[in-house]
Amino acid sequence: LKTTTTSPATSAYSRGDALAWRPATSLLHQLRHLGVRALIRDDAEATALASADFGNVSDAQPPPAAVLYPSLPEDIAKLLRASCTHPSPFPVSARGCGHSTRGQASAPRGVVVDMMSLGCHAGGSSIRLSVSVDGRYVDAGGEQLWVDVLRAALAHGLTPWSWTDYLHLTVGGTLSNAGISGQAFRHGPQISSVQELDVISGLGEMVTCSKDKHADLFDAVLGGLGQFGVITRARIPLMPAPARARWVRLFYTSAAALTADQEGLIGINLGTAVSGLMDYVEGSVVLADQGRAGSWRSSFFSDADAARIAALAEEAGGILYCLEGALYYGGAAAARGGESDVDQRLDVLLRELRYARGFAFVQDVSYAGFLDRVRDGELKLRAAGLWDVPHPWLNLFLPRSRVLDFAVGVFHGILRRDSTTGAMGPVLVYPMNRNRWDPDTSAVFPDEEEVFYTVGILRSSVPAWTDDGRQLLRRLEEQNEEILRFCEEMGIPCVQYLPYYGDQEGWEKKHFGPAKWARFVERKRKYDPKAILSRGQRIFTSPL
Ligand code: FAD
Repeated sequence: LKTTTTSPATSAYSRGDALAWRPATSLLHQLRHLGVRALIRDDAEATALASADFGNVSDAQPPPAAVLYPSLPEDIAKLLRASCTHPSPFPVSARGCGHSTRGQASAPRGVVVDMMSLGCHAGGSSIRLSVSVDGRYVDAGGEQLWVDVLRAALAHGLTPWSWTDYLHLTVGGTLSNAGISGQAFRHGPQISSVQELDVISGLGEMVTCSKDKHADLFDAVLGGLGQFGVITRARIPLMPAPARARWVRLFYTSAAALTADQEGLIGINLGTAVSGLMDYVEGSVVLADQGRAGSWRSSFFSDADAARIAALAEEAGGILYCLEGALYYGGAAAARGGESDVDQRLDVLLRELRYARGFAFVQDVSYAGFLDRVRDGELKLRAAGLWDVPHPWLNLFLPRSRVLDFAVGVFHGILRRDSTTGAMGPVLVYPMNRNRWDPDTSAVFPDEEEVFYTVGILRSSVPAWTDDGRQLLRRLEEQNEEILRFCEEMGIPCVQYLPYYGDQEGWEKKHFGPAKWARFVERKRKYDPKAILSRGQRIFTSPL
């Protein structure tokens, strides 16, 4: 274990509340005394980095007091045991890449565990990422990025089956939410395809769990928002990998036509000729004033095509819908179909789907290139200084029967009426089959109907330190609140994905509802009774 400390304890931390520690000057000393030997920093640079996140939205939470850089999972277990046995237990949060948007990975006045440092020690990724070809699974450290999981599996002609749109997220971070993308209709979210986990509970116990062993902890942690334990390893099943993807974008002038086609593709209206022909199904709303740079996906179209699409949007009253799909083929998954099969499937789709004729766009790309498609957009936005800006994202799940009411009120109403010129980013809308979600996990999703939609309003503002930036951010946040109010008033039973609520009442009443909340609290009492873990989520603020 590393024993280096890089700076004296300087943070101004000494509060009178129930969970405060003793003054900061003794912080490192206390942890050493309690047996925590890993590298810890409590200088301003380390704590500022650990409290910043992708959201870049100012957050009223106090910053963490220190950051732990573990070499081994045992370092995290020691920290958690130190907190548990301390007279004033202190908050501890695992932090993957900090892709949260509201401080969820921070630990107010506590210790943030920098998960990425696990992969940097003891031989790094090769030890914390290993593929079993015979067993058809990959064991990935909780800190590993999905893009590295993909590379490791592809080296053996294998691949996990469920993904997120963006792959530079950690395994532990997405499994704490759900992990969704256009494959979820068929394979469920990423939490539906995990075989086994190594977890360190809030009591500092290291537990290997699965559906057969400590099943309650396993289910609690999946979609558990970091509340029950730190995931240090996940075993993810693999299947033969395709080599390539036909990547398709089709434009629609109505939400009804888009959603009817999406539902046919995911197999709801069984009997339609298109059911099951696509391996990935998503969709988005294209607002005329969004601008080409406004989408991460803008590189798909030539200038001439973009101009035609913009003209169609004008004609359609300022709003278009885009169905995005992919058909995999070739490679080790050739049983699924080779090139002639994919051509046939595509022909059927282009004939049967009800998009605006003349507005079908197809690219042929490698499977890995398709899955890592958002990276391209990220690099462009970074180069333009538009990545580290505020991201007041709003993600919702809503039942299929209300998606068109939502489209009228939100896409054609709130988002069109109050122009937020300057805001950028995709507005995603696509359906998922509820039976691919496991109700025993902690993830919350609508369970009234067989199908529910996800709507991701993934907009970003301009830099917050300018007057324009502050105003635009305020406007976007007001719009998010208006959207939630609209759903409430219209009786649209939506729940947030990647949720944020300011207080426990919001979590209990708006997010979980009585039965799921009771189970969540029960699990918290069992696995983290002192409410140490992931305080940045603002679910529990005191011991149970
Ligand atoms: P962090 O922000 O570091 O942590 C998130 C939460 O998980 C915190 O509460 C933290 O304490 C907890 N946590 C982190 N690591 C662990 C661990 N090992 N064990 C236990 N708890 C842990 N999500 C999707 O589902 N689909 C998408 O397509 C998608 N696309 C995205 C694109 C971008 C550009 C971004 C920024 C986010 C996207 N997300 C998507 C959301 C993403 O899945 C979540 O933000 C996820 O939490 C990010 O992982 P992270 O490692 O950055 O987590």
